[in-house]
Amino acid sequence: MHEQYDVVILGGGLAGLTLSLQLKKAKPDISILVLERREAEASVAAHKVGESTVELGTHYLREVLDLKGYLEEHELPKHGLRFFFRSHTKEDIASRVELGPRLRLPVPSHQLDRGTLENYMMKLTKEKGTRLLLGAKVSNVELDRDAGHSVSYIKDGEEVTVKCRWVADASGRSSILKRKLQFQKPMEHHTNAVWWRLKGVIDIDTWTDNAAWQSYLEPGLRYLSTVHFMDSGYWLWVIPLGSKNTSIGIVADPAIHPFETFNTYEKAVEWMKKNEPLPYKMLEPLGQGDGLLDFKILKHYAHHTERIYSEDRWATAGESGPFLDPLYSPGTDFIALNNSWLSDLILRDMDGEDISGRVTIYEKSHLALVDSWIPVYQNKYLLMGNTQIMVIKIFWDWATYWAVPAHLFANKAFTNLRVLKDLFVAPDSLGRKFGRLNKTMQDLFLEWLPFENQVFSNRYIDPFDLAVLRRFQQEIEVQRGPGEMVTQIQKNMNILEQLAVAIFRFVSTEVNGTSPDIKVNPYTINLGKKENAMLLDTESADAIAPGDDVIKDVEVMWFYPKGVPVVVQ
Ligand SMILES: Cc1cc2nc3c(=O)[nH]c(=O)nc-3n(C[C@H](O)[C@H](O)[C@H](O)COP(=O)(O)OP(=O)(O)OC[C@H]3O[C@@H](n4cnc5c(N)ncnc54)[C@H](O)[C@@H]3O)c2cc1C
Repeated sequence: MHEQYDVVILGGGLAGLTLSLQLKKAKPDISILVLERREAEASVAAHKVGESTVELGTHYLREVLDLKGYLEEHELPKHGLRFFFRSHTKEDIASRVELGPRLRLPVPSHQLDRGTLENYMMKLTKEKGTRLLLGAKVSNVELDRDAGHSVSYIKDGEEVTVKCRWVADASGRSSILKRKLQFQKPMEHHTNAVWWRLKGVIDIDTWTDNAAWQSYLEPGLRYLSTVHFMDSGYWLWVIPLGSKNTSIGIVADPAIHPFETFNTYEKAVEWMKKNEPLPYKMLEPLGQGDGLLDFKILKHYAHHTERIYSEDRWATAGESGPFLDPLYSPGTDFIALNNSWLSDLILRDMDGEDISGRVTIYEKSHLALVDSWIPVYQNKYLLMGNTQIMVIKIFWDWATYWAVPAHLFANKAFTNLRVLKDLFVAPDSLGRKFGRLNKTMQDLFLEWLPFENQVFSNRYIDPFDLAVLRRFQQEIEVQRGPGEMVTQIQKNMNILEQLAVAIFRFVSTEVNGTSPDIKVNPYTINLGKKENAMLLDTESADAIAPGDDVIKDVEVMWFYPKGVPVVVQ
């Protein structure tokens, strides 16, 4: 007689463990088996990437899974994402354009030591009554909705088979179900990554003697940021870990930085010497001897999927489904969304509800969300050496993220059919317009590229000096009812449309000499530099002018004196 479970989770990484905790919180008597092939506890520091969290994923860990206490005691608080751009003098960090928050942030986020976190979550998972087996490698899955699925695993050399109502594949890049059922889909985004962990604390505040620069932020705050050093085709991260170690990574587009130039530790160090001489000087000595804790590589990390949830009671969770890009640390966000949709389906199904309609809606919503995020990253590594474009793009990307998906998630709106219907069903619905507006702006950034290549220095730019950004971020966790939520998204979309027009006016004035005061239909924005370009609508009733507060925000992002044409060097 085979053991029976309500849910068997394949893989006990971040997605699998959080899914088990979310299900147990909602239904303590649900029976769950988590199968994890790793033999022992995770190693501290040198375990996995996925260390920096942003607002949506943080809300999930702290508020949905109640991990707030653990996170505050054992992991580091994070001081936002921080960027240092291209510079004439990369040896002098104080002279590089720096983008990041100065003051402590109202909405929290964390730097996670993934080993410490997963070990804690494994302990908690067991305490909640879930059966978790280490050293259990899934060897086969036979799906059968009516008779119950069969999952086989090998432990201590023996194969064991269990039966279950639901299978959740959280096996990461093993992607057990995706491979078995052949629903892989290529992702046209070809960047590569390497990363390593160094023993000890690395505080970039000490990388210069410039006291004025050091004192610009409270001591210790720069250290707590996820730091990105950025130039054409790449970014290099420095992330502090609660275990008093440091994570370093290079992420690059092979069109500019072939993978073979940094895919071993020795080559990565040489690559830093050439592209980022200061991090090279400060980090290379620390990697000698036992200072280097690990070195990992991942070629072409982005992948897509045709399927996520099935009414036949199986689903993928985490990286076994799609994965896009780590630039803004969104991995945990997607786990949060995915697990919330999946838990809702499992719990409703166990309550006897017909979930077929929800399966379709959740899968469409999830895939649409991934697709609407692709243009944020695709070909955008080409922009990374252009400070002015990147500053505006980063602010645009944060504004859209905070105003819509982060706010919807914090209000549990992604499992509310009324909100989903209002936001996404009609062709001219707000959700669909959101995707179109974002794509329009991402295309504008690429179209602008040939006309913008200034190298700037000695500037500090704080996202919270922008009233719109500040408001969107502060309001993420404000709770609203379903009707009020849709109204709020409408208001946020209205501001995003104004922001798009205000940005476009500045760019178009510089590139095309258009009037800085024109009205524009935001969905027709383009510079007219491409063949068959859409006609810019400046006349119809859909053409709008931004409000003064929005214009002021774009002035903060704009590095040139207003009205002076850009000189292309
Ligand atoms: C370069 C890079 C940087 C990133 N940085 C960030 C970041 O800063 N912030 C962020 O939020 N996200 C980040 N991510 C994304 C993040 O790493 C992932 O979202 C997250 O680790 C995925 O978790 P998971 O549980 O799906 O997969 P994993 O953590 O890989 O877990 C899968 C588990 O399944 C187990 N397994 C596999 N096969 C089997 C089998 N046959 N039987 C049993 N068990 C099995 C594995 O041992 C593993 O423990 C980054 C990703 C990349 C590529």
